[in-house]
Amino acid sequence: MSAICERLTCVSKHRAALVGVLFTVFIAILSLVYFRTVTPMTAGVVALTLLGTGLLARLGTGLLAPQTAAEVQKAHLLMLTLENMSQGLCVFDTSQRIIISNERYRAIYSLPEELVKPGTTLHQILDYRIVNGGYRGSPEEYLNSQDATEIQQLGNGRIVEVLRRKIEDGGWLTIHEDITERRQNEGRISFLAHHDPLTGLANREAFIEKIADWCTRYRRWGEEFNVLLLDLDRFKQINDAFGHPAGDVLLTQVADRLRSSVRETDVLARLGGDEFAIIQAAQSNPRDSAQTLANRIIELLDEPFSVDGNDVTVSASIGITLAPEHGVIGDDLLKMADLALHHTKSQGRNGCTFFRSALSEAAVARQLLESELRRAIAQNEFELHYQPFVDAETWAICGAEALVRWRHPQNGLISPDRFIPAAEESGLISQIGEWVLRSACAEAASWPTPTKVAINLSAVQFRNSNLLDVVTHALTESGLPPQRLELEITETALVEYGSECLSMLGQLKSLGISIALDDFGTGYSSLSQLTVFPFDKIKIDKSFTQNMTKRADCAAIISAVLALAQSLNITTTAEGVETKEELRLLTMAGVSIVQGYLIKRAGPASELDFHTLSIRPVAENVA
Ligand SMILES: [Mg+2]
Repeated sequence: MSAICERLTCVSKHRAALVGVLFTVFIAILSLVYFRTVTPMTAGVVALTLLGTGLLARLGTGLLAPQTAAEVQKAHLLMLTLENMSQGLCVFDTSQRIIISNERYRAIYSLPEELVKPGTTLHQILDYRIVNGGYRGSPEEYLNSQDATEIQQLGNGRIVEVLRRKIEDGGWLTIHEDITERRQNEGRISFLAHHDPLTGLANREAFIEKIADWCTRYRRWGEEFNVLLLDLDRFKQINDAFGHPAGDVLLTQVADRLRSSVRETDVLARLGGDEFAIIQAAQSNPRDSAQTLANRIIELLDEPFSVDGNDVTVSASIGITLAPEHGVIGDDLLKMADLALHHTKSQGRNGCTFFRSALSEAAVARQLLESELRRAIAQNEFELHYQPFVDAETWAICGAEALVRWRHPQNGLISPDRFIPAAEESGLISQIGEWVLRSACAEAASWPTPTKVAINLSAVQFRNSNLLDVVTHALTESGLPPQRLELEITETALVEYGSECLSMLGQLKSLGISIALDDFGTGYSSLSQLTVFPFDKIKIDKSFTQNMTKRADCAAIISAVLALAQSLNITTTAEGVETKEELRLLTMAGVSIVQGYLIKRAGPASELDFHTLSIRPVAENVA
């Protein structure tokens, strides 16, 4: 309070100057508010200033110095208002001498007390600030800058927004706001809007802007460039195996290696998940430079990563487009790179593909097939064929595998290999799979006990959390006992959907349903798969069966698998048995069940005859 009293005394001493100045200050601030020239100063600042200077004006015009108790009260209120403003305020007279200032003004510029006393010249203040590194310009520059809003960076790094307004009769009103935090927040918001917070790389939005910029640059100056789209292979498995935090650690390490593989002029972004993208400034041979970069990335990622003390290996699939060869529209370039990336994935991953028009044609064909599949589902154009499998010793029919067919109105019967991949990719497999489950269970319910029905599950179906409901509903609806249902899953599902898949299989098995590992010997085949889940059955892929008479290694593998399965008490089925010789060898090797053309081709349910199946003559021949 003593400081306020001292200020009041000073005000009183200079009241002659105040009389004219204060009223004009009041008018100046009114005009600032009215024309909104104070922005970005907050309305609150202006309101406070207005209040303060309004009181000053009244004090100046009506009361040359506080005389009555009421006037003293008003003067106190005025000074309290000034001292509690979060902005600095300083009013200069026509000779650029301070009439009044507040404490915040002094604090912002770290000015000594004596330099803010009324009568001090602006020159003295600026000289002090220049000597102490608080002002980088010259006093002349400052003084010549009229009616301006200026941003000043102080020597201590703080940022101050200064609003200067000349008062009509020659004085100055200045308002000073420390906007350092506001600027930092704006900077942070701007950074977050354009960067991926995990890796610090440009994000999808920024990348799309950059690619548009590069397209413009090409049109203006002919600068060619390449776009590389990159996706980590089987990243989901790593997330599943080690947890999401470990997945994030891996992504940051991948980002670091990618950073080291590009030049400063290139643009590197994380588009989301495990998808990265690069804009590469093309050199003399764009195709070669893109290929070289892709090879470098594949090589860099080939080295194991250390995540939480574990060595983790990861590979990448890359799709490449070249501008202008493939186009100069950002969106198109990205779509084409995506098609090329998709092709790399379908070709076994860990490589790169340049876009070519055939990929677009294939994509169009896929889309057409997808829309046809939607129609087929709506029109109920699918039907089931059944292929029986028999006990290799007793020749009794154990069950039949349900195989879906598509009866196309124009193209006739279509086999699953021509539409299941598209159904899986589009997610339509869930609807088709549900129909298969319900139809096959309903059909099998009429078969003699204990004949089983085997139904193939797609890896994609494990993505849907309602698979258990779908299966139980099919059983309840049909009345088929779970013990007569066998679900076949491929190694792909195990590999792609690891833990989710195993937990789902566990729940299905606990219902009494048998679980078979299908197409064993293909894909990522490993005997270790047999230990990850207590399978009821292994189905040896037909490629082994059909090669066992020609290739010693296939015969050896079949013998090894059969021996292992026997020791693990797992039933075995040999698929694709087509000749008597194959049947003879398989029987000798100890296979439990056989299935294939030699026994019966797949056909409609009406062709299934559980009593007169023509296997006995074959069996007699074998015996
Ligand atoms: Mg199968």
